[in-house]
Amino acid sequence: MQTLRKTRIVTTIGPATNKPEILEQLIRSGVDVFRVNMSHGTHQDHSQAIETIRAISDKLGQPVGIIADLCGPKIRVGKFPGGGIDLIAGENAIITTRDVEGGPGLIVSLYRDLHLDLKAGDHVLFDDGLMDATVLSVKDQDLSIRMDHGGFLRNNKGMNLPGAKLSVGALTPKDRTDALFALKTGVDYLALSFVRGPEDIENLRQLITETGATTPIIAKIEKPEALEQIEAIVDCADGLMVARGDLGVELPLEKVPIVQRDLVLRARAQSKPVIVATQMLESMIQNPRPTRAEVSDATTAVIMGTDAVMLSAETAIGLYPVQSVEMLHRISLEAERWQNSLPQPPDPVLHGGQKSVLRLAVARATMQLARDLNVGAVVVRSLGGRSARVVSSTRPMAPIIALTTSPETVRRLRLHRGVIPCLVTQEEFNQPRPTAREIARRLNLVKTGEYLLLLAGFGREEPTLTALPV
Ligand code: PEP
Repeated sequence: MQTLRKTRIVTTIGPATNKPEILEQLIRSGVDVFRVNMSHGTHQDHSQAIETIRAISDKLGQPVGIIADLCGPKIRVGKFPGGGIDLIAGENAIITTRDVEGGPGLIVSLYRDLHLDLKAGDHVLFDDGLMDATVLSVKDQDLSIRMDHGGFLRNNKGMNLPGAKLSVGALTPKDRTDALFALKTGVDYLALSFVRGPEDIENLRQLITETGATTPIIAKIEKPEALEQIEAIVDCADGLMVARGDLGVELPLEKVPIVQRDLVLRARAQSKPVIVATQMLESMIQNPRPTRAEVSDATTAVIMGTDAVMLSAETAIGLYPVQSVEMLHRISLEAERWQNSLPQPPDPVLHGGQKSVLRLAVARATMQLARDLNVGAVVVRSLGGRSARVVSSTRPMAPIIALTTSPETVRRLRLHRGVIPCLVTQEEFNQPRPTAREIARRLNLVKTGEYLLLLAGFGREEPTLTALPV
């Protein structure tokens, strides 16, 4: 029977992809969720992209999710008259928070409180850590720095301040404006950058609730402070992103893979989706084929049990956006095929902190039964998506057909591993047996004589698990 990819592919939109014909190719190649990055572009660009994605997805009958990624307190340098400046190792330069123009030896910080948050001896990294400097002294709004590693610093590149306690909150005024804009366009998730504690998520939640929306929040984990409060953050957020770009600058690089593993397991333990992001197939920005190490990294993420892997610059500005998606598709399928061939369910997860013990217990039994009976699919009725999420987090071998009458639930469920969300009528929803058989046959997941597993009443007191012959 048909093998469907379970690991979801998230793709960042940018100049390389923001064209109807490329967006269509991306959806046809298997993109499940698009990321609109609020760090770049205008609201007009973003709403046009969102409208185009929705229109193509309707035309193809292929629902996709959309995440609006709020930039948070990302600290950036300002502009330079020639587009950038040379910074030479061993030489001094000034970072200023004054409202002036940058130039040789003078870097403007767009974060205007930088001089209040840094002191002599602190480190400043530029452009994802490609260059770094030590603060020598702070006088009024000027910081004198000595370059430890130099390079060419371009306009608007990021600055990271590992170890510094920033006075700015995670939800900046720009994030508020961007969130309100994104909510109006009806995006399916909001991601929040540089989360440090649960209060950052609560602030965004309050804003979402005030608009009457219920949009789930993905906490981007990229600061050491977030790791100190990770339990509370996982409790509070609706999903996690392992934002390896900034995480790899803020933490020693060698810690990133271990943190990634911990975050994937924590998210799964609470049946929340997790995305492994950044530099998945970085070399494909320039080349049609990835390196062996990149293929190995993506495979590891899939085997670890992540819900989704994410492409960033590969699809935003790369030369081979469609090929990058096709490559991730093939890598995921191969890793999943190997996992399915194992005699025991791989990567079991210790669930914890769940509200419904009953739901979880039934989901785990479903996972085992699906394996023992080698069923073609697990079918679960899931109006708002919770039941499908819990079953997904046990990572059954069979795909999970989630029946719902809500288009919003369909789009949100596109982020969850192994879930095939299906929009059905109320009548079909009320008749899950014929609906399950019909959909599983249509998707070529079962043939006569095989079984489906049907979960009903899952959110209530009396769940039933039926082995349904086809
Ligand atoms: C990251 O830092 O890995 C990340 C995903 O964030 P952004 O792409 O917004 O910098």
